Amino acid sequence: MRRILVAGNWKLNKGPRHAADLAHDLVAGLIAAPAEAEVLVCPPFVSLPAVYRELSGSQVRLGAQNCAAAAAGAYTGEVSAEMLAETGAEYVIVAHSERRSIFGEVDDDFVRKIDLVHAAGMSAIFCYGEQLAERKSGSAQAVVRRQIESVLPRLAGPTAANLVLAYEPVWAIGTGETATPEQAQEIHALSRGIVGEILGPDVADAMRILYGGSMKPGNAGDLLGRADIDGGLVGGASLDAADFMGIISGAAAV
Ligand code: PEP
Repeated sequence: MRRILVAGNWKLNKGPRHAADLAHDLVAGLIAAPAEAEVLVCPPFVSLPAVYRELSGSQVRLGAQNCAAAAAGAYTGEVSAEMLAETGAEYVIVAHSERRSIFGEVDDDFVRKIDLVHAAGMSAIFCYGEQLAERKSGSAQAVVRRQIESVLPRLAGPTAANLVLAYEPVWAIGTGETATPEQAQEIHALSRGIVGEILGPDVADAMRILYGGSMKPGNAGDLLGRADIDGGLVGGASLDAADFMGIISGAAAV
């Protein structure tokens, strides 16, 4: 039985002070209504220590939104996976569509980053998903297959414990548009099949595949109720403790 994971991606929001406040509210909410689901928050790098302090002793895990594609050296402005592990982070998001489209990251970067995340003892959340034009032209399935097949077989040691997939149709991220539960389930089932071809059926069966794209309290239960949707990667709605709690309770209902 896969445990639901509800992960908040705070993106470029919440410096240490406001991040600590949000973490505090979330912890308080979960003390009042403990969740069955695993709960994760991914604040900006500089807010990791402040959020770690707030999360101490709670059921909420800490993650980062990105890491360097190198372990150390002359890479001004970068933060390594090992440094993130030292802050108490247990997860790192890799290959988010904003890293792909705004920062020009490509498959080679994702392979290096995921391997470094694993070497540092953390889990990676590998994001993928089609653009609107690809969905409209009927090539979503082929795009997803290519994105998974160009990374997973090249990883040094992926397991169902250290790798989480996140299907995020780009047209649904931050747009208020959500994939229907049927559309999401179809791609999740396909993704699990591809993971099975690459890593074997046991790993595929145990691997968690999150949905991301305008997940809200009102649609979370329906999405999370589908057979191959094992949680959510939540952007906008994770910036409000009540909304994020609403999604977590949606997870509890399934
Ligand atoms: C995301 O950026 O991972 C995301 C899913 O954002 P939103 O929930 O705002 O669509």
